[in-house]
Amino acid sequence: MISLKAHAKINLSLDVLSRRDDGYHTLQMIMQTIQLHDTITLEKIPSGVEIICEAPYVPDNSSNIAYKAAEAMLQQYNIQAGVKIEITKKIPVAAGLAGGSTDAAAVLKGINMLFELGIEPAEMMRLGKTIGADVPYCIMGGTALAEGIGEILTSLPPAGNIPLLLVKPRIGVSTAWVYKSLEVKKITGKPDTKLLMSAISAGDISTLALNMKNVLESVTCKRFPVIENIKKDLIRHGALGSMMSGSGPTVFGIFEDVEKAEYAFDKLKNSKHECILTHTV
Ligand code: ATP
Repeated sequence: MISLKAHAKINLSLDVLSRRDDGYHTLQMIMQTIQLHDTITLEKIPSGVEIICEAPYVPDNSSNIAYKAAEAMLQQYNIQAGVKIEITKKIPVAAGLAGGSTDAAAVLKGINMLFELGIEPAEMMRLGKTIGADVPYCIMGGTALAEGIGEILTSLPPAGNIPLLLVKPRIGVSTAWVYKSLEVKKITGKPDTKLLMSAISAGDISTLALNMKNVLESVTCKRFPVIENIKKDLIRHGALGSMMSGSGPTVFGIFEDVEKAEYAFDKLKNSKHECILTHTV
């Protein structure tokens, strides 16, 4: 039996460059692992894949992306046994925090350890890509530039331990819907990704916080104006900057120190939104 932490991610920037003929979009994003995590427990069983997950809105069957990851791993490496997966969810679902992708990444890493397969991360990332575009990043973790459809990864210097407050309105947003609704030719407010990468290298959190941009906000904020209000609330209560993560609806604020993040948490914790204090790792 083995237990792993499956960390969530936020986007420190998200730009869409083009729409491919197959419907996927080419992206340029700065990804960042955060401390918030699900816990994945894996156990050898005689055959097949079993999954236990009691969280609402998460399938506890072969539709769960963690189940698909386990099946792919058992098949690819011809493993003559099965695996039981237990998922304890702490990452909000359909929230722009890569909750499913990180569970899948942890299953790949965990099966590698449980069966002592000795597979290198690069090979696991190749298999991960067949399961979901964000899975390779979740295997790698840390601070990274993600390009292509999210699978071409360049590791960046670690952003350090930045205090964060996540605020998630109680709505789920379908990533597919957001991308389908995006009119690539009409995108404005693009991030200056180079500037953000230099700010991260220099440990300049203010420049990072003030220049973060996510072009998907145009779609999600239009449909759910509450997101824009949360961004403003975070700034009003002391955040250096605030932005929606991924396709939303989670918004995060970046803070100068933990005390300031806790102050904002106290101000917002009784709102109708889910508030989570965390930090980058
Ligand atoms: P991303 O940021 O990668 O777009 P997300 O954080 O917005 O992802 P997820 O939490 O991964 O979204 O959930 C997306 C959908 O996937 C949900 O509708 C959920 O039912 C389904 N799903 C399948 N497996 C999982 C899992 N292990 N954890 C969470 N959701 C899962």
